[in-house]
Amino acid sequence: MGGGSTVVATGNIVRCYEKEFKEMGIDLSQEFKEAENEIPIRLSTKEIQASGSRAIYEAALSLGYQMETMPKAIDQQKCIKCGLCINGCKQGAKWTAKNYLNQAVKQGAVVRYDSRVEEVLIDQGQAYGVRGVNAEDEFEYEADKVILAAGGLGTPVILQNSKINNTDVGKKAG
Ligand SMILES: Cc1cc2nc3c(=O)[nH]c(=O)nc-3n(C[C@H](O)[C@H](O)[C@H](O)COP(=O)(O)OP(=O)(O)OC[C@H]3O[C@@H](n4cnc5c(N)ncnc54)[C@H](O)[C@@H]3O)c2cc1C
Repeated sequence: MGGGSTVVATGNIVRCYEKEFKEMGIDLSQEFKEAENEIPIRLSTKEIQASGSRAIYEAALSLGYQMETMPKAIDQQKCIKCGLCINGCKQGAKWTAKNYLNQAVKQGAVVRYDSRVEEVLIDQGQAYGVRGVNAEDEFEYEADKVILAAGGLGTPVILQNSKINNTDVGKKAG
């Protein structure tokens, strides 16, 4: 769906795999900073912490563990602590990637829903579009730039169907 898994995510915003990517020669520090500036992040406070979370937090502190509050992309004025973040936030309190999608649409982007991409079209090592199916038919879209972002499960399958000459795709976990 529009917004992908961020719609069902719980709004915790922490950096991950920064070190691992750096070891592979990919430095994402600038991109992390940019994202952190764009997404409205606040440390969670009592206002949005469920009683269970609060109890664990206080019990851990009393036992001498170091507990830190989670940076969240949640508008604490709108959150009603229902605990149903993973069903999609009905209060509109949680930031999701739909915010970016809506911005793109306002600037003229067209979103094609119900369209399953099956393959990136590649010619002489250069991606020039995608092929897939929708409710009516097969489709092909051509573009100067193709960004494949179908998530951890979708992306490898599309790459396996595409002519990228890499037999390892989707086979190495972790
Ligand atoms: C319940 C839950 C809670 C989470 N909580 C957090 C959290 O608190 N903090 C955090 O950082 N992360 C959290 N995550 C993880 C986070 O949501 C994901 O890591 C992140 O959204 C992945 O982004 P992505 O763009 O790679 O893929 P996705 O968000 O999965 O987006 C992929 C998009 O591609 C589309 N797609 C897939 N295959 C195709 C295809 N063949 N053709 C066309 N479109 C396709 C999908 O419909 C989707 O819109 C959570 C995830 C879940 C499921």
